[in-house]
Amino acid sequence: MTADSRPKGRFPAALKPVAVARATAAKGPPEPLRPQRLLAEAARDARRLTPASGLGLDTPAMQRRMVERLRQDGVHCEPVLQAMLAVQRHHFVDSALAAQAYEDTSLPIGLGQTISKPSVVARMMEWLFLGPNARRHGHLGKVLEIGTGCGYQAALLAQVARQVISIERLQPLHELARRQLARQPAMHIQLLYGDGMLGHPPRAPYDSIVSAAGGDDVPSAWLAQLAVGGRLVAPARSPDGRGQVLVVIDRTEQGFHRAVGEMVQFVPLKSGVC
Ligand code: SAH
Repeated sequence: MTADSRPKGRFPAALKPVAVARATAAKGPPEPLRPQRLLAEAARDARRLTPASGLGLDTPAMQRRMVERLRQDGVHCEPVLQAMLAVQRHHFVDSALAAQAYEDTSLPIGLGQTISKPSVVARMMEWLFLGPNARRHGHLGKVLEIGTGCGYQAALLAQVARQVISIERLQPLHELARRQLARQPAMHIQLLYGDGMLGHPPRAPYDSIVSAAGGDDVPSAWLAQLAVGGRLVAPARSPDGRGQVLVVIDRTEQGFHRAVGEMVQFVPLKSGVC
């Protein structure tokens, strides 16, 4: 099925996270979410910090506060909140940035890339949980993640999925994620170095597909590799061409249903490997 023949629509009310509805009602159109902040901004914030050796940082309390804020901001999916309590974000960032790890902000991870904002990661996972297969089984099944970065979201996904296959196109980040995840308790994660635009046909079909990088549209390979009853959540160019939006695509026996969500700002989805 081509992109043009896919039905397009808004999120059904039941799928609209409360945080989005609130922000829209209170302040008009929400600010674009910025999961990947400009590096210059992140570097400026990093300079303001006293390097954190880990001493004096009550990271469990900071983590609990982060999850409480997510809950107050409308993330209600308990498995997602529990995953965010289980995975310690400060292990995935440079130790000099540890003090900021539980703020709702993206942080640099090298090569011009950043670890995504916790609220954006939580929101995308919550949407995956509302997919037909995930609702039926109570977990995300077999997940394909495009854009491993430092591996934080892969670790979260592994808490609520049967298996995670995560692809990164930048070899140093692929290696970084491998080192970071080796320190985590045993997880069903397969890390791949390659061009995620092609998906990963050998392990298809996937119950859930999530991308941390956005292109003009969702690559057709991802649609082909989505299971019937599966859900895909990814950033893509907005219909008016002026920014990025999150798109949610469900595959049914009849075809694909596509819904468009809020404005976002993710790093570009690039083809090839480096
Ligand atoms: N999931 C990460 C976010 C990483 S940022 C987290 O937990 O924070 C997005 C990542 O997507 C970058 O590392 C970038 O290199 C990667 N990326 C962009 N295009 C890609 C492609 N075609 N295949 C695989 N990775 C890609």
